[in-house]
Amino acid sequence: MVAGMGLALAGCVRSSVAPPVNQQSRHRPWLDRDQQTADRSTASPQPSPPAGVSTHAQPVPGAIARQHWTRVAGPVSRDIHAMNGVNRITVHHEGHTQVEFADVSSTQQRLEAIRRTHTAQRGWADIGYHFIIDRAGRVWCGRDVRYQGAHAREQNEHNIGVMVLGNFGVQAPTRAQVASLEQVVRTLMSFYRVPVNRIYTHRELPQQRTACPGDQLQAHVGWLRRARLA
Ligand SMILES: [Zn+2]
Repeated sequence: MVAGMGLALAGCVRSSVAPPVNQQSRHRPWLDRDQQTADRSTASPQPSPPAGVSTHAQPVPGAIARQHWTRVAGPVSRDIHAMNGVNRITVHHEGHTQVEFADVSSTQQRLEAIRRTHTAQRGWADIGYHFIIDRAGRVWCGRDVRYQGAHAREQNEHNIGVMVLGNFGVQAPTRAQVASLEQVVRTLMSFYRVPVNRIYTHRELPQQRTACPGDQLQAHVGWLRRARLA
């Protein structure tokens, strides 16, 4: 059904999207640890993207394009809506089993499993989230940002969904994940001109009956908004 769509997309979105004005975000900003004082002391190794990864994805430059984790290039049905502008960003966790793996191969398999669950079981057109951050801090493209996501009931309009891999009701996010989340949100805020008071966690949106993104990530998002993104 999607065979004709090809796997030629260079990044999350096509090149018709204007590049961000922020000079520093042209390379992988979440790998720039030297601006993140919280990580200076740990000197964790930089995660490596798969070979051949695109470095000019937009609006989050360097995010790993979806052809690196799925052969399905895009939506599998027409039950999907244009985004028509972004004015808020919502943070999620996966919220299933505890995630300990941080390697590329396991992450690729997990993303494809999520996509299959969202399409085959829930009947959605594609994976519900626009970006996914793995345990090593790599950022992966999910649903094309030209489309509304399927990540918050009745609240997907103009709303970018960023999922952090793990269940933060039972585990803590890694330092690399928190650092990447900060950089991704900062880049999206700049690209779409979203103010910090429009950065939400899933549970903060109206009428969401969810613990997402788990108490431990919730606390980090609160700190990022107060201390890093404001
Ligand atoms: Zn959620």
